[in-house]
Amino acid sequence: MLLVECDGAAVAIDCGVLFPERPGLGIDLLLPDITYLTERPGLLRGVILTHGHEDHIGALPRLLQELDVPVFGPRLAMALVGEKLRRQGVTATLETFTPGAHIQIGPFEIEPIHVTHSIADACAFALKTPHGTILHSGDFKIDETPVHGPGADLKRLSEWGEKGVRLLLSDSTNVDQHGHCGSESDGGPALESVMRKIPGRVFVTTFASHLHRVQQIVNASAACDRRVAVAGRGFEDSTRLAQDLGYLKMPGPGLIRATEAMQLPAGKVTVLVSGSQGEPNSALTRISEGRFKNVTLAPGDGVILSSRVIPGNERGVHGLLNRIAKSGATLHRGDREGVHVSGHAHRDELQTLLRLVKPEYFVRVHGEYRHLASHRSLAAETGVARDKCILLEDGDVLELDATGARTGERVVAGRVLLDASREGEVGLEVLRDRSHLSNDGFVVAVIAIHAQTGEITSGPDLVTRGVLRGEDDYVLLDEAKANLVSGLRAIAPESRADLLEVESEVRRILKKFFSRARRRRPLIVPHVFEM
Ligand SMILES: [Zn+2]
Ligand SMILES: [Zn+2]
Repeated sequence: MLLVECDGAAVAIDCGVLFPERPGLGIDLLLPDITYLTERPGLLRGVILTHGHEDHIGALPRLLQELDVPVFGPRLAMALVGEKLRRQGVTATLETFTPGAHIQIGPFEIEPIHVTHSIADACAFALKTPHGTILHSGDFKIDETPVHGPGADLKRLSEWGEKGVRLLLSDSTNVDQHGHCGSESDGGPALESVMRKIPGRVFVTTFASHLHRVQQIVNASAACDRRVAVAGRGFEDSTRLAQDLGYLKMPGPGLIRATEAMQLPAGKVTVLVSGSQGEPNSALTRISEGRFKNVTLAPGDGVILSSRVIPGNERGVHGLLNRIAKSGATLHRGDREGVHVSGHAHRDELQTLLRLVKPEYFVRVHGEYRHLASHRSLAAETGVARDKCILLEDGDVLELDATGARTGERVVAGRVLLDASREGEVGLEVLRDRSHLSNDGFVVAVIAIHAQTGEITSGPDLVTRGVLRGEDDYVLLDEAKANLVSGLRAIAPESRADLLEVESEVRRILKKFFSRARRRRPLIVPHVFEM
């Protein structure tokens, strides 16, 4: 989430989620920390959305539960947001715009500019502020032959460049990729030629919101005389929405269910299946594990991964690839057979944007820290002064006024961890405990002490999980108990009946014992009571 603030009013650009880089520990999503906004009631006047990807809209329900502000976005993004809010029972004012519209939020005059990306209706923003124009690229690529609609509006971008742009915030994802990322339309013929080589069923996965890709899969299937079936909630939802809104046109008969498709001759079927990232409960994972009602992979079938692996998901995807290979089906991967085209501009396109917009200042957004140097030299090549290419991280503030731009004092920002149950936030302490539990197990120590003297009257009893190596490891527990008894005897007589004091000693003694005996740091839970 990016915040632009001026004269006591702010507008947020996008409000997305991230997925944890290391799976596990019951953490599902990372949300932006909005403390800065909740502590300043009335500051945020609205949210504008560049496009409908989860990393741009996913955290909106949470934000809208706390702050009552209008949301402005392009058509498909707003349809996805509407669905998301309805499912979570959140209400908000939603305003759909088209490129070229004039949106006034607080002191900001905002114009959306059409760009191309791996989702329909993506846009960049020109934000007119009292201190000059800020141009935000959104996620973009320069596709001159997109599957639907016009190419990125380079003319309008250059018009803004002519008027003068003080600050360009640019997508930086693929700055290390040379040349041009290629047109989305190039993927169509590649998909068709791969499908023709597959004698059995075609299973194809991509991102569910990538409707241009879905259209190409549908078209290629029609050309190969295959009926298209859908498996998994992601595609069931997105194809329904896409047909309702006219983003998906069926050249032949309509979509069918995957179970129906299994009744047709194998060579006449394409199954569009959710789960390109190897998500544990996705349809493709379940099919590969034989857990999806009546839908199975067989020799002769082919699985097309028309997507890239998002960093952090490699393990899940590798497991998936192995299971597919075991089933005897053939694998066709986006990066190797041209069946996936990136949605993010490569170096030449990033340079084109810089040349058109000619910003005074440049900040890269949506990329990794390691890309900075590379993007900075690219900006410098197009004439942006090196000291005007600024690096910002979460929580950094860039102050822009008539005299120039500089980084200001940092503000509270960061990530809030959302529990897998989606029902609550998870604090760092909880996360530490979970990490402890999963790596080192736990030990519960139950001890009864005399209320006056503090003498042990019962126990210690130790209950452990994930700590012992096996049945015969009980010797270790006896040692631990003996250690505990002698350690507690060493407490000064006046503190021996102090429950808190005893509990903290129990923790200290057992921690030391297990770290020495097992090089492990199990979570120690003391339970001391008086008798
Ligand atoms: Zn995107
Ligand atoms: Zn993105």
